[in-house]
Amino acid sequence: MAHLSGHCTCGDIRFVTGAPVMRALCHCNICKAYHGRDFADFTIFRTSAFREESTGSVTYEVKKQPPLLKRGTCDNCAAPILERLTMPGLPKMMLIPTRWLTEQDQLPEPSFHMFYDLRVQDAADDLPKANGYLGSQILFARHFLPAVLSGKGKSAA
Ligand SMILES: [Zn+2]
Ligand SMILES: [Zn+2]
Repeated sequence: MAHLSGHCTCGDIRFVTGAPVMRALCHCNICKAYHGRDFADFTIFRTSAFREESTGSVTYEVKKQPPLLKRGTCDNCAAPILERLTMPGLPKMMLIPTRWLTEQDQLPEPSFHMFYDLRVQDAADDLPKANGYLGSQILFARHFLPAVLSGKGKSAA
């Protein structure tokens, strides 16, 4: 199975992962602020298939209740580097801003756009697009749950 790796700008935060579960794009305002970009491009991995090899530390913040997603930045270079997703009844996940992954040619294409109504620019693709909180959560679940339940991304790092 593919083993992927990545690191933040300064290299203090490093990790290796198993195969991705899913990749997606989010245009919500929290993501825009956290990623410092017009939209978030993130790839999801199982925490069980993720291993941190950092020499520095990450500070996590909850930006929205309930605290399902903790967003972490590198204490040294302030890069948005690791997000921890904990949903009741599901395996824990790591969300990695896709740009930090080294093996870009081994990554899946994004599956969809979330919060597309908050976009800065139109996207020139045919991916599914959801607007608003409820629509975005439903589209996320429709792609994420089958991938998780089928065991995708279970290979160890
Ligand atoms: Zn760093
Ligand atoms: Zn978002």
